[in-house]
Amino acid sequence: MASILREVTETIVTLAKGFRVTFRNMWGKTVTENYPETPVHFMPRYRGIHVLQRDEQGLEKCVGCFLCSAACPANCIYIEAAENTDATRISAGERYARVYNIDYSRCIFCGYCVEACPTDAITHGHGFELATYDINSLIYRKEQLLQPELHKKPATV
Ligand code: SF4
Ligand code: SF4
Repeated sequence: MASILREVTETIVTLAKGFRVTFRNMWGKTVTENYPETPVHFMPRYRGIHVLQRDEQGLEKCVGCFLCSAACPANCIYIEAAENTDATRISAGERYARVYNIDYSRCIFCGYCVEACPTDAITHGHGFELATYDINSLIYRKEQLLQPELHKKPATV
């Protein structure tokens, strides 16, 4: 008899623990996003479409090291690196990414590429509107991912 009572008590306690979050949220204020009429509110760490970052000088942070591509479990990053020259400097390193594609038909937004990057060149943005009828348009090119050149400082003489 004692063991049955103990089992019933344990079951009730377990159920109460399991439903604690459910009950707490049942009586909370309902949050409805009226997308697309109003913009969606993202959590700061939301992993959306990637952004290729620039440094304070406006140079591309990507140095074409391929570490992001090597870390990607979905094998969806394609890079072609090229050398910077005195006449044409694209990044602060020896090399830069001449081609940088991400195939969003394969990307699982795991963030491994972001973690692997030694120069913080690739980050997740908040872009999410990827739906398309044309699978080829899910291959995003460097030009689509690169941060605009808004913060470029004038070169010092
Ligand atoms: S988020 Fe993950 S799957 Fe997507 S490109 Fe980066 S490493 Fe690959
Ligand atoms: S994004 Fe980062 S990890 Fe990927 S090639 Fe560029 S510098 Fe290397």
